[in-house]
Amino acid sequence: MLIDAMGWEVVRRHHAFETLAPNRKPLETVLGYSSGAIPTILSGRLPEQHGHWALFPRAISGKSPFAWTWILRVLPRSWQHRYRVRRLIRETTRRRERITGYFQIYDVPLWLLPRMDYTERVDLWSPGGLAPLLGVFDRWKKEGRRYFCSGWEGPDEDKFDRAMEAATDGAVNTLFIYGTELDALMHRVGTHDPEVGALLRRYEDRLARLLESMRRVDGRDPELWIFSDHGMTDTLGSHELMKSVASLSLKEGRDYLAFYDSTMARFWLETPASREALVPMLRALDYGTLLEESDLAGHGLKFSDRRYGDLVFLMNPGQLIAPSYMGHGAPRAMHGFHPADKDSPGALLTPEKLPESVTHIRDMFSLLTS
Ligand SMILES: [Zn+2]
Repeated sequence: MLIDAMGWEVVRRHHAFETLAPNRKPLETVLGYSSGAIPTILSGRLPEQHGHWALFPRAISGKSPFAWTWILRVLPRSWQHRYRVRRLIRETTRRRERITGYFQIYDVPLWLLPRMDYTERVDLWSPGGLAPLLGVFDRWKKEGRRYFCSGWEGPDEDKFDRAMEAATDGAVNTLFIYGTELDALMHRVGTHDPEVGALLRRYEDRLARLLESMRRVDGRDPELWIFSDHGMTDTLGSHELMKSVASLSLKEGRDYLAFYDSTMARFWLETPASREALVPMLRALDYGTLLEESDLAGHGLKFSDRRYGDLVFLMNPGQLIAPSYMGHGAPRAMHGFHPADKDSPGALLTPEKLPESVTHIRDMFSLLTS
């Protein structure tokens, strides 16, 4: 089971899975979000190799799945943030582009959308999700493994129900469950709330029942591996970075483009003036760091083109960009800080012997395919 955002510190704080999976270790993660971390787990490669990092890269070839939305610019400004308008944009784009992956447009401004591309167009949880690379599910399909994968959609309880059905009718002997509710819960209540421990215990209970029924059907003890893509950091403060950038005497859209995630801002520089103004301004901010090219290369983020930006400004742990294109307010906890921060690592938990070779989330690929 892959539990989104089940950080090493979260596991320790809430004594997660101590009965079911007592052997555990932290897993180093990649800089960024699940959109980069999950393809890393499923392919065993770093973002520069599998190409997935942030959800919104620049539309480099000029072809954007959102190109059609230019007609909506006639809408009154106040309408552009309405939930129903944004849902219409999302659903129309999904249908037109036949997007089967996790697809959200959050609060990305309408004027910016036609200049952006979208990374997760194909469902990562099916064979072909990382084409041309072969991921875990391609390998499982090729070797004829009888497996069930829950995918990302729907409530976690439904995923367990479907897994239970698949396990009890004996059709499969491998279950892969992707739980997303711990992530959502901690964004809402923080990492210390007792609700977090309660949800982890519900997961433990459901997993124990699944193992029991697999044992009954198969007569053998199934292996159990519980792991995560990254950790979670409680929010300490928030900063209006968008406002500070807008106060420079540059014109957004002409001199530069910017994309504001909650812990990271990426900039595309179109004129020399934009570099001259943005670089010293970002360097002077005390709540984050302007990453050097060598930092990015060290994180496996050396892309062959500019699609993810020319500059990356990373917030200090616990400090958020708010408002951002992810939403107006600041969540109680967030991930996407520096991988070396104590709250960033994910975790691997098992009743089996821990493999020494697995220390980073990308090492999960060889474990899952061995
Ligand atoms: Zn999250």
